[in-house]
Amino acid sequence: MIVGVTGYYSSGKDCFAKYLETKGFIHYSLSDELRNELKKRKKKITRENLIEIGNEIRKEYGPDILSKRIIKKIKTKKNYVISSIRNNYELLSFKEFDDFIFVNIFSPIEIRIKRIKKRNREEDPKTLKELKQKETQENSKNIYNQNLQEVTNVADVIIKNDLSLKIFYGKIEKVLKDRTIIQTNITKSIIKKRSNYISWDEYFMGIALLSAKRSKDPNTQVGACIVDHNKKIVGIGYNGFPIGCSDNELPWVREAKNINNTKYPYVVHAEANAILNSTTKLNGTKLYVTLFPCNECVKLIIQSGIKEIIFLSDKYRNINSCKAAEKMLKMVGVKIRKLNLNKKILIDFEKY
Ligand code: ZN
Repeated sequence: MIVGVTGYYSSGKDCFAKYLETKGFIHYSLSDELRNELKKRKKKITRENLIEIGNEIRKEYGPDILSKRIIKKIKTKKNYVISSIRNNYELLSFKEFDDFIFVNIFSPIEIRIKRIKKRNREEDPKTLKELKQKETQENSKNIYNQNLQEVTNVADVIIKNDLSLKIFYGKIEKVLKDRTIIQTNITKSIIKKRSNYISWDEYFMGIALLSAKRSKDPNTQVGACIVDHNKKIVGIGYNGFPIGCSDNELPWVREAKNINNTKYPYVVHAEANAILNSTTKLNGTKLYVTLFPCNECVKLIIQSGIKEIIFLSDKYRNINSCKAAEKMLKMVGVKIRKLNLNKKILIDFEKY
């Protein structure tokens, strides 16, 4: 895990980094890189000089030179805290790490000036006005310079540090804990894919079964799903009356003296609906259907170019219409395949 930290003058960045050090994080500071550079050039370490040298070497070696130097030292599987990220390019180079999190420590300026006055360092600003002036130096639009405002705006987490240290540490702990849980889950899913995912047959037949749930037929609910060679669903249907023919006015019964008082003259079978609802030409496609098709549907299946029928149940296969269906399918070479799935898939809306 790599935690980048930013924030305005005296907001608590160093305090944050030091706290993470106590948790075993290795601390690198982009301003330490600048301090070393000043030492090399035998210049005094002041905030002005730090800003100046930073802008200078970013211009000379590229806007992300400081982060590049630190990234060279980073080894995987260790925890790091990187402080003083003050430029978008510095930030971007860290964002390439999957386990990078960017934190902005925020303290109101009135609190920060109190802290600055209390610690009474020679190079520090002495008044609120001076502090504001110094901060404008940190907000350049030039890509080689500091642009702290832009950087703080894109933090993943903002930790407000305006109360006691104890409260501040508590907030840090919470961020680390939440992040660790999220990160662990991400890592696990990357390392090992789920093993109990459903097969294509289960998926498409599952969709056919779910479609069947839409049927209002009290006796037989059939669903169908047509799939192309790219495993894209191109048609779905279930058994029902034609559009506009009321389910309340037409009969659902299977037997009556007059056939017109049964469902049979009116109902459109699932396979026919799937073909009629299809979004493309069906040549070479496969039809998943929960029940072996009747002769009327098989005529449509053959004419539309479907080349394989995958079904779950064939409990009516010995009736005349199914026999005729099978005869035609054999004649034209449409494959038929019975799925034997011993599986239950639960759809639990309540879980979400
Ligand atoms: Zn049919």
